[in-house]
Amino acid sequence: MSADTQTPALPREARRGLGLILASPSGAGKSTLSRQLLQTENDITLSVSVTTRGRRSSEIEGVHYHFIDTRRFEQMRERGELLEWAEVHGNFYGTPREPVEAAFEAGRDVLFDIDWQGTVQVVEKLPEDIVTVFILPPSMTELASRLHRRAEDTEEVIAKRLANARTEIAEWRRFEYVVVNDDLGRAFEEVRAILRAERLKRERRVGLVGFVEGLLKAE
Ligand code: ADP
Ligand code: 5GP
Repeated sequence: MSADTQTPALPREARRGLGLILASPSGAGKSTLSRQLLQTENDITLSVSVTTRGRRSSEIEGVHYHFIDTRRFEQMRERGELLEWAEVHGNFYGTPREPVEAAFEAGRDVLFDIDWQGTVQVVEKLPEDIVTVFILPPSMTELASRLHRRAEDTEEVIAKRLANARTEIAEWRRFEYVVVNDDLGRAFEEVRAILRAERLKRERRVGLVGFVEGLLKAE
């Protein structure tokens, strides 16, 4: 078989960035899955939210969140600096708009760890670019034990999060994909499969146009 010299090679293909939203009730494992995805996949960055919640001992300013006060949050909201925002478990959370736009322009994907209320707003603003995944715990008992095992929150905060979990799970139909996080390895492979398939969608692969034109021109 002789090498085809006329068909252009497919270089690292130009692709439009996508936004992957991982949402779940607190404790179902979305931070763990997000961390694994960021470690193993290229070209994806985490959208670092702002929050008025207090910092947990394991959290780093600017890495997990930007920790801000309510006055600063309201200022950002009023200036239109947030792509979306919501009140969750009695604190405010929001997604800074500018880093998301910059990543998309650079052809990079963005991972969002936000709740269903934020998901609705982002999907409405960027309908073509967003992929939504809801992570479910295998049982409510396991959800409670994960929140305790994480040992990051007070009993009062854990009780509040468990009470809110049912309200959040009730919103599951808003999401395109649902992953049950029973076995972590399997759940991770499922999330990764979703990302990889979504990246391959024709409409995101703008670099394919020239390649296919070349294929058709070749003798
Ligand atoms: P979330 O970000 O959804 O609040 P985390 O990722 O912080 O949840 O996970 C909550 C706790 O459960 C953590 O201690 C994490 O290590 C643990 N965890 C996550 N996924 C699993 C799993 N599949 N099996 C057992 N423990 C898990
Ligand atoms: P936590 O306090 O456990 O970090 O997060 C609590 C909840 O707030 C989670 O469901 C998380 O996904 C959500 N959350 C975190 N950042 C944002 C954000 O920027 N916007 C919205 N709408 N929710 C967020």
